[in-house]
Amino acid sequence: MKIMSINAGSSSLKFSLFDMNTNEVLVSGLFERIGIDGSCYTIKNSEFKIKQEVQLKDHSDAVKILLDKLIELKIINSLEEIDGIGHRVVHGGANYTESVVVTDKVIDDIVKLSDLAPLHNPAHVIGIKAFKEVLPNTPMVVVFDTAFHQTMPKENYLYAVPYSWYEKYGVRKYGFHGTSHRYITKKISEVLGRDDLRIISCHLGQGGSIAAIKNGKCVDTTMGFTPLAGIVMGTRSGDVDPSIIPFVMEKEGLSAGEVVNALNKKSGLLGVSEISSDSRDIENAIKEGNEKASLAQKMFVNSVVKYISQYYVELGGVDVITFTAGIGENSVQTRLEIIEKLAPLGIKMDIEANNVRGEVKCISSKDSSSLVYLVPTDEELMIAMDTLALIK
Ligand code: ADP
Repeated sequence: MKIMSINAGSSSLKFSLFDMNTNEVLVSGLFERIGIDGSCYTIKNSEFKIKQEVQLKDHSDAVKILLDKLIELKIINSLEEIDGIGHRVVHGGANYTESVVVTDKVIDDIVKLSDLAPLHNPAHVIGIKAFKEVLPNTPMVVVFDTAFHQTMPKENYLYAVPYSWYEKYGVRKYGFHGTSHRYITKKISEVLGRDDLRIISCHLGQGGSIAAIKNGKCVDTTMGFTPLAGIVMGTRSGDVDPSIIPFVMEKEGLSAGEVVNALNKKSGLLGVSEISSDSRDIENAIKEGNEKASLAQKMFVNSVVKYISQYYVELGGVDVITFTAGIGENSVQTRLEIIEKLAPLGIKMDIEANNVRGEVKCISSKDSSSLVYLVPTDEELMIAMDTLALIK
């Protein structure tokens, strides 16, 4: 069985083709600058990497070239070998609590939800339609970033704002990165051999979120109505007092949209350090004695620690804290700083075990009150697994 996992953006299309007998990636890659000058694609696996400039006027062009290339490179012999396609969709609203097979109604619903995810949902629909056009008979599935979080109790997903905003416009916390948090939950449950776990899952990448999970179900999460809320991120502010928005609008002569854009794109590690959104640059600048980099790192770590402590109480204790994504999987120093601050909860790091990157490993000390694990995430594989389960 071969399943393709797709993440379509407004001008990009990311893909991975899996052999579902082994969960191995046969080939993966990216089409970039679709509809823009200088478009190109990269296709790679463990044996080769091809980067080619090519004119891509729309997503259908990208899909056609991708499928031709798979045959030309002898990854597949015919298009019938692709048994299913799984599409990542950022927003599934409150009603989509799990992945579903694509139907016209599902596509309509994703379009309707564009109000809540204007940058993402329309692009996903373009991707789905492009594949439908070229492979009309191949079963397709959509996997929503929000779905895993729809088990949150109402007191956790509502904001304390006029209730009518929720009823009329769906103003509530939805949560994101659900596919990653769900993958981590599945993986750590397999590793520990039990499902009845209280997990605090820390997905720390360029975007970051934390989820509190009990018996496999999400109880709370840091991202909110949009992926702007929660912890400090690469370029996103995380939680701020909303009164800042009209204040800065007036002072800087900006529109509300422009201020929100600055909170999304010019804040976080980048905004505070004034150096970079990339945690590697921040770590290097700290070594050179840069104070703003050091301040940005402290704010990032504090924001993560605050939520872990909150979720510790919400879950009535925690069995395992997991770290994943770019920073969570690679930054030995950031993990250490976070766990050191959790000492009042009896959570302790094994400093030697923590000296690891990108593999499943227990990094807490033997006398720690909770386990701490590094668990690399794999959202693409989770999408392919959901697709396989639904088309079988
Ligand atoms: P995205 O949210 O875009 O998927 P990633 O999960 O790829 O992001 O995470 C990107 C972040 O991971 C960047 O801040 C990057 O600096 C960080 N990162 C990647 N490798 C390392 C490393 N070796 N050490 C520290 N940080 C790293």
